Formats: sequence, C-alpha cells, structure tokens
Amino acid sequence: MTAPTPVRPRPESEISHWDFEADVVIAGYGIAGVTAAIEAARAGADVLVLERTGGWGGAASLAGGFVYLGGGTATQRACGFDDSPENMKTFMTAALGPGVDEAKIEAYCDGSVEHYDWLVDCGVTFKPSFWGEPAWEPPFDDGLMYSGGENAAPFHEIATPAPRGHVPQMSGKVTGEKGGGFMLMKPLVETAEALGVRAEYDVRIETLVTDTTGRVVGVIAKRYGEEIAVRARRGVVLAMGSFAYNEEMVESFAPRLIGRPGAAIEQHDGRAILMGQALGAAVAHMDATEVAFIADPQHMVRGIMVNGRGQRYIAEDTYPGRIGQATLQQNDNQAFLIIDEAGYEEGAAATSATPFMQQLQPKWVAETVEELEADMGLPAGTLTSTVEVYNRHAAEGRDPLLGKKPEWVKPIGTPIAAIDLRGHTLGFTLGGLKTTVDSEVLHVSGEPIPGLFAAGRCTSGVCAGGYASGTSLGDGSFFGRRAGVSAARAVPVAPASGHESAPATA
Ligand SMILES: Cc1cc2nc3c(=O)[nH]c(=O)nc-3n(C[C@H](O)[C@H](O)[C@H](O)COP(=O)(O)OP(=O)(O)OC[C@H]3O[C@@H](n4cnc5c(N)ncnc54)[C@H](O)[C@@H]3O)c2cc1C
Repeated sequence: MTAPTPVRPRPESEISHWDFEADVVIAGYGIAGVTAAIEAARAGADVLVLERTGGWGGAASLAGGFVYLGGGTATQRACGFDDSPENMKTFMTAALGPGVDEAKIEAYCDGSVEHYDWLVDCGVTFKPSFWGEPAWEPPFDDGLMYSGGENAAPFHEIATPAPRGHVPQMSGKVTGEKGGGFMLMKPLVETAEALGVRAEYDVRIETLVTDTTGRVVGVIAKRYGEEIAVRARRGVVLAMGSFAYNEEMVESFAPRLIGRPGAAIEQHDGRAILMGQALGAAVAHMDATEVAFIADPQHMVRGIMVNGRGQRYIAEDTYPGRIGQATLQQNDNQAFLIIDEAGYEEGAAATSATPFMQQLQPKWVAETVEELEADMGLPAGTLTSTVEVYNRHAAEGRDPLLGKKPEWVKPIGTPIAAIDLRGHTLGFTLGGLKTTVDSEVLHVSGEPIPGLFAAGRCTSGVCAGGYASGTSLGDGSFFGRRAGVSAARAVPVAPASGHESAPATA
C-alpha cells in the first residue's frame, strides 16, 4: 500500500517531471467531464480526461437517464405541452429550494432549449412520446415524463405544469443495467473522441498543483500505486462526483444519509470538494440531498402515506423523490402506506402491466381501521382520525389538507392494510464547491480561483434542498459545458521552466 497523498495543493516547484500535459485537464469521465471535454475541444483546446476507473461512464452511465430540460423543447412541443423559461424558473425556484442559486436557475432555464438541441446534435435521441402513469421512470422508451411534482400540489398552483424529465431513447433498455444514462453517455463520449479528446484510465486524482501566484497549473494522481504529475496549461476541470460515499463528510454535513448512499458510485468520495477546500474554495448547500424512496408510485397514489404518528404528511400523487425527502428529512424515516384491498389490487395490476417495478407486500391486514391501528402499535385514535378526515373529504372527491388531485382521491374502505416503508430511503449529496454560472470555482473571498473550474455533483448546482429527477444529469451537463469553455479560454500559463515536459502525444 502506498501512503495516501495529502490533499493540500502541491507547489509547482516540487514537480520535476510532468507525465502528461494538455491545455485542459478534466478530472472524471462522467456527465460533467464528457460535456466539459466536448466544449473545451470545440473551443480549440487540447483536452485530456483522467478517469479513476477502467472506463468512461461514472454514475451517469448507470442512471435512469432523466435530463431536466424545458422552456419549450422539441419533445415537449411534440407531446403537446407548453412551457417557457419563465415558467420553468418559477417551478425550479419553488421546488428546488429554499435558497436556490438564482443566477444558476436563470442561466439554466434560459439556456435549456439550446442545451436540448446541443444534446440532440451530439447524437442523443429523445422519443417524442409522453409517459403519464405514476412511476419512477418511463418503463418503456417514452422520452418525456413529469419528474419533479410539477403537476402535483403545491407546485401545480405555483407554475403551469409541464413535464421536463427527458429520457434518451434506446433499444434493449434494461433498467438498472443499460438504461437511459448509458444512452446519454455513449453518443457524448463518441462526440468527444471524434473531436480528438484523449483519455487516460486508472488514474486517481488526489490533489492540485499551484504556481507561486496560487493559480492551478496541474494535478497529482496515482496510477497503479505510482504518483504521476499532469500539467494543465489553461485549466483543470473537477468533475469527480458527489461525497455520498465519504462517510466522514456525510456524518459532518448530511447526517440523515448515514448508511444509506444510493444512486451514486463508490468513487463519489468527495475528493474534489476536499481538493478545492484545501485551496480555500467555498462550498454551498452541503446538507442538501436527493432521496429515493423504495415504493411503487402506483400503490402510493391509491392509498395514504402516514408517519410514525399515524398522520398524513404529503400528497401521495407527487414526485416519489419528494415523498422520500419528506419521509427522511421531516418524518424521521417513518412511513406507512395505508391502502384498502381494492386499491392494492388495482395498483398491483397497473404495476404488472409495466416491467421492472417492485411490488411491496402489506405487513398488517385488518378488517377495520381500529384493528389496523392497534396491530401497528399506534395510539388509539391516531390512524382512525386520519382515515376519518381523509374519507370525509374524499367522499366529495377532494383533499383540502394536502391537495392530492381529485382523480386519485377515493375513500379508503376495508379490508385495509399497511405497507411498512420505514427506512425505505437512499440518496446522494447535492452540495459541493461553490461555482459561478461559468463554472469557475469560487474562493471563500468570493473571487474565482485562477485555473480551477468544476461541474457536476462535486459542485452545488441548481438544487439547494429540493430535487427533481434529471437535475443532476441536467446541471452536470449544462455547467459541464460551461466549465469546458471557461477552461479553454483561460489565459495559458507561462511555459514551465526547469521542468521536464511531457511529450505532446502523451
Ligand atoms: C442508478 C442511478 C440512477 C440515476 N438516475 C438519474 C437520473 O435519471 N437523472 C439524473 O439527473 N441523475 C441520476 N442519477 C444521478 C447522476 O447519475 C449523478 O448525480 C451524475 O452522474 C453526477 O455527475 P458527475 O459528472 O458529477 O459524476 P459522474 O457521472 O459519476 O462522473 C464522475 C466520474 O469521476 C470519476 N472519479 C471520481 N473520483 C475520481 C478521481 N479521484 N480521479 C479521477 N476520476 C475520478 C468517477 O469514477 C466517475 O467516472 C442516477 C444515478 C444512479 C447511480
């Protein structure tokens, strides 16, 4: 075992030999890395991507593939939905906060149609068909779905509902193995390769190299246990993912996620954030987390979700990730789905008509609500009053308490069951390095750190607390592109003197 490399930046004066060099050096070959590489190469830079694993992809290629796009994309229009950048901003500001980075939301929404066209131009295909059933993601190859609760309370009254979860189309889709994320990454990597982007694999970046002015001029990495130095003539782009798998950081910043990382990969160890912090970089929204909820939306809409006190806490027809956040963050990870036999059977039938959905079995089944309440160990009167209030309004087709849409509001009858959903949450971290809209990493003083750019989940992006599916691949790709452009346009460093340079073909 080689000793771990300290995270403190290494002075350039200590480097006697550069093993590789390029104008723009990109750390990580996932979604932020590949989009940065394409735009840096198109801006005329010589680009080198360094990737820790044996191939490109990262979490992005395992992803379901939602990309959050709107404002009137061709897919939205073809599916009959009106949207505008202003409408998109209103939704994102309300749903992804509190405390969203307004400049980022503005740039992202104003640039969303162009970003959609850019992805299509790179070879990503979105089938112009809409999936409108409750689900985590379209089970077939449809290209558009609501993915953030846009059409549910409270947001459907704040902004005009428009679906923005765009999923790349593919044949032979196998959810969890070969899904939309792979079909997003593949054409992007092919685009980068066609532009002459070079990639080195099995290279684990560990710290930054700075010159006497504090400018970032390269990185130190490990390859097969040996240290290598890589020079960046114009800039380094950090695109190494979240800190979901760094237990110490999760404990410090996002403790509700302890022991439950999900929708991330082990390589998301927070190193990029630590490397930036070691240079004085600011961070933002380190407590924000995406939360997946392992439950079938087809069942959730047909019942009521109650917490550990037997009380409803969310409209059951909203984005399931929002149910996950409300469960983990506001209800101590205590959740039960109360559903009657007819609702359960109907949900099961809807689910079995679509592949890949997991059906959960009831833990308690009873003839009356009072019996169910007692079997669940809830204090007498808690669940019964919840069901009584819900049913009283449901008889009129309304849910004045939480605003579930009339189409899903039905009195809950008997026999009645409870599905135990305690602890059914997993998630990844959304906080990270603070960056400008041009993806420059900001020092705690508020100024950009020269030579250092970042995008993806090692940065704080458009989500400050709330989440919508697609915003990670969305802001990772959108601000990844900007990181590539900014790095390519940075003033080059003076030629290294007294150092041995790497051959141009390295
Ligand atoms: C199953 C699953 C489903 C998901 N579904 C969606 C979805 O539908 N929509 C959505 O928006 N998001 C989704 N996500 C999340 C999304 O994939 C990630 O948040 C996103 O890929 C983050 O982009 P990134 O570029 O920051 O990281 P990645 O895409 O993971 O890329 C980071 C790369 O950096 C490499 N790396 C890490 N450390 C180092 C190092 N020290 N040196 C060199 N390389 C390094 C990694 O190996 C990786 O290849 C999903 C994730 C998973 C796993």
